[in-house]
Amino acid sequence: MHAYYADHFVLPLPTGHRFPMAKYGRLRQRLAAELPGVSLQEALPATDGELALVHTPDYIRAVTEGTLSTAAQREIGFPWSPAMAERARRSVGATVLAGRRAMAGEGLAANLAGGTHHAYADKGSGFCVFNDAAVTTRLLQAEHARQHRAAGLLRVAIIDLDVHQGNGTARIFVNDASVFTLSLHGARNFPFRKEPSDLDVELPDGCGDIEYLDALERAIEELERRFDPGMVIYLAGADPHEGDRLGRLKISFDGLEARDRRVMDWAWQRRVPLVFCMAGGYGTDLEATVQVQINTYAVALEYHARWQRWAGGLATGTR
Ligand SMILES: [Zn+2]
Repeated sequence: MHAYYADHFVLPLPTGHRFPMAKYGRLRQRLAAELPGVSLQEALPATDGELALVHTPDYIRAVTEGTLSTAAQREIGFPWSPAMAERARRSVGATVLAGRRAMAGEGLAANLAGGTHHAYADKGSGFCVFNDAAVTTRLLQAEHARQHRAAGLLRVAIIDLDVHQGNGTARIFVNDASVFTLSLHGARNFPFRKEPSDLDVELPDGCGDIEYLDALERAIEELERRFDPGMVIYLAGADPHEGDRLGRLKISFDGLEARDRRVMDWAWQRRVPLVFCMAGGYGTDLEATVQVQINTYAVALEYHARWQRWAGGLATGTR
């Protein structure tokens, strides 16, 4: 299974900054050591033209040239630097490349970062510069239209299980019938002004495994009734975990693994390609955040193997 990274573009942060930048390198290190079925690839940067499928030219230029206002940088939460701009492009590029892999018959692929769902068309927010899921959706829709003109527009379900609401994504795709945005998030958590998704599920502070998985089940049933996707983008946020500093929920490792399995199984049962990205994770213990992510990859490898067996069976007519 292919997974794309850009953590070697190190974003210089002031000392004491609360963003756990080290988690990306640590995830790559552990994947290489523990899950050899994951093929780690360097992400390419998204181009201006790709970003412009979602973002305004003025915003792309301000990020590229370093002319973001102080207020805009404060809202993003990172000071501007050339590495910050490059890293933001590569993080989008990683989801795009993973999306192409998944759609090209591999069934599943991943971005070791990404899930930057607080980014709007014309501004960044909450550690998110560009919206990787949104750019990937628009670009793959365009590529799909070119290759399969008669098949109609590619329909994409964005299943956002980061603990924070996917406000930027919801806003970008508002009134767009070709994209279904689902966000399951903490009711009292950031962002405090939420945008309406196609389906929003709000969870109370302290929510545990049983309540969480039950809410997910009902959300997936509703998604199933309302939408028939040709691709799924899954934001497998680690921040609902009970050890998270910002999450406010109490989901265990097992609960999050069951969550990942439910989403990946749903896509697999329908033979819908799925790309996943890591989104948020702010563990008091960084290693706990990375463990949640490692578990996501382990489940994904199982479904990737099923896809390969199924595709192999189709090729030889023995399925
Ligand atoms: Zn989050």
